[in-house]
Order: sequence, then structure tokens, then C-alpha cells
Amino acid sequence: MSATFEKVALAEAAVFAEAITPHLASLIDPHDPNDPIARQFLYSAAEQTILPDELGDPIGDQPHSPVKGVVHREPDRVLLKPLQLCAAYCRFCFRREQIGPDQGLLSDAELDAALAYIRDTPAIWEVILTGGDPLVLSPRRLKHIVEALSDIAHVGVIRFHTRQPVSNPEAVTPALIEALRSRKAVWGAIHCNHVREVTPATRAALARLVDAGIPLVSQSVLLKGVNDTAEALDALFRLFVELRIKPYYLHHGDLARGTSHFRTTIMEGQALMRTLRTQLSGLALPLYMLDIPGGAGKVPVGPQYLQDGTVEDPRGGRHPYSTS
Ligand SMILES: *Cc1c(COP(=O)(O)O)cnc(C)c1O
Repeated sequence: MSATFEKVALAEAAVFAEAITPHLASLIDPHDPNDPIARQFLYSAAEQTILPDELGDPIGDQPHSPVKGVVHREPDRVLLKPLQLCAAYCRFCFRREQIGPDQGLLSDAELDAALAYIRDTPAIWEVILTGGDPLVLSPRRLKHIVEALSDIAHVGVIRFHTRQPVSNPEAVTPALIEALRSRKAVWGAIHCNHVREVTPATRAALARLVDAGIPLVSQSVLLKGVNDTAEALDALFRLFVELRIKPYYLHHGDLARGTSHFRTTIMEGQALMRTLRTQLSGLALPLYMLDIPGGAGKVPVGPQYLQDGTVEDPRGGRHPYSTS
């Protein structure tokens, strides 16, 4: 089917932002029909299949947004979304209907109001910069935000979530990293789903962040046809540890509209985690997480080792153990 036909179909049905960076495009193997980069970033006609239980705002950002650009669901931490742009758009993104080239930056007045909300809410201990991708901001704008947050006494931790070291590693410049410097603790969460995303340039960008004193954790999404095998996840999590990134969360696919071709079942995810427990260190194992549709929050979803008065060991043996 021609690209033109797909574009027409997209315009008439659901519209989700499309963009890929030259760096990511250069990684696609045109001879591999299951290329993990192509599957994650290139439009597929399967996106036009929208299931009845899929949602425009699957994890419930909007009901928890007290002011534009802020999501406050957990008492001690908020999301601050200074922009709704990314360098490349993941086809499975749970914010795919909120982000894109037409969404842009918060205005200066909107950013001031968002910062004022954080300043006026003493329960907020951690501010999570997300979006969009906060490392797409200019160093000047990022520095302004980091400095404003650093000046708030009750803010103890600034965390940023980014895919930029994967999507556009050369953009993670020393000037951008300098803009993240703060008297407060600054942590980074790196979004990466497959070892093929990690090139020498990406390794170098990640090393620049860690060498600047920024501890990194990972976030991955369990994606059918990309990383839904024990081999793919084992390789990914070991690579994170070698790159000084602590595997943090493996997310179950959110119910974003037009993403059912990416979702496994929870039982499949649990079986993968059970296998990984037999072969990976605790340092290399993330938690398998579900963000409950509608905005009730995130919880680990197994697997369970302790049940009915027995506990299972990593090799599958069962041993009596009471829970009470
Ligand atoms: C994911 C998320 C967080 C952060 O959750 P952690 O478990 O601390 O990583 C905070 N607020 C909202 C609204 C979120 O969606």
C-alpha cells in the first residue's frame, strides 16, 4: 500500500503525530521486516484499529491537572510538562493525543503559573519534568526551569524523563547537561526499549549524563514484536546496568487508542518476568508496572511468588511459607 494512501486514511480517521530523527532512521534495517526501530517509530495501518476499551487519555492526566502543564496525582510528586514535543514520536505513546508539533511549549505566563502551583504546594517533594521530552528544550529554557525549581525550599528532587539520548544523542550536549546542574538532587529516567536503540553516540550521551553526577534509571514498555521475549529483555536490562542505568520500570502497554497491535497480555508479561528472575540479578530487574486506566495510579503487577501458604523459588520449586 502506498504511503499516500496511508496518509489519506490517517487524515480521515485518527491522527497521531509522526516524526523520526535522521539518527533513528539511519538505524532501520530495510531488509528486516521486524525491525524494532521501524516498528516503534514508523506509522502502521494497524493504528487505525481502535478498540472500545482504548482511551484518548489512558492514564488519566487530565483529571489530575490543577493548572496547565502540571499533573498532580501522587501527594509528594508532580509532573511538570513544559512542552508537548518530542524529536521522534513513539507509535505506542500513551500521550499520543496530547503531544505533537502543533502542541508546542507552555507560554511564559503558563510556565510561571505552573511553577507558582509547585511553590504554593508544600507537599511537593519531587518534580518530574516530562512532556513531550524536556531535553528537547534549549539549554537556556531548561536552565530557567531547573533554577526556579531549585529555589523552592520544599523541592528535594528534580527528575527528568527523556528519550533524547536515543532519538537525538548529539543534542545531549555539555551545555544542555550544564543546564541540569542544581543544588538539589537531579535524576534522569531514560526511555529505551531495545538494544538496537543503543548506538555508540547514545552510549556517549548517557555517559555524559552519568559522568555529570546524574543517576539514571530506565523505563521500557513491553511491546509485542519489539521486546516481548526473554532474550530481548535480558539483553536490554544487562546493557542498562553496564551503562550505569538502573532498570526501573517495565510498563505494560497502556490503553492508548490505536495501539492494540503492541500490547501483550498481563499473563505474558508475568511469564517473561518470571523467566528473567531465574537469570538476572536484582540490580538488572525492573518492576513490571500497570498504570491503571483512568488515573488511579501505577502498581506492580507481578509475578507473585508467595501464595496459598507456599513460596516459589527462582527455579520453580515450591516451599511452605505462611503469610500471616
Ligand atoms: C508515573 C507518574 C508519576 C511517577 O511515578 P513513580 O512511581 O514515582 O515513577 C507521578 N505522577 C504521575 C501522575 C505519574 O503518571
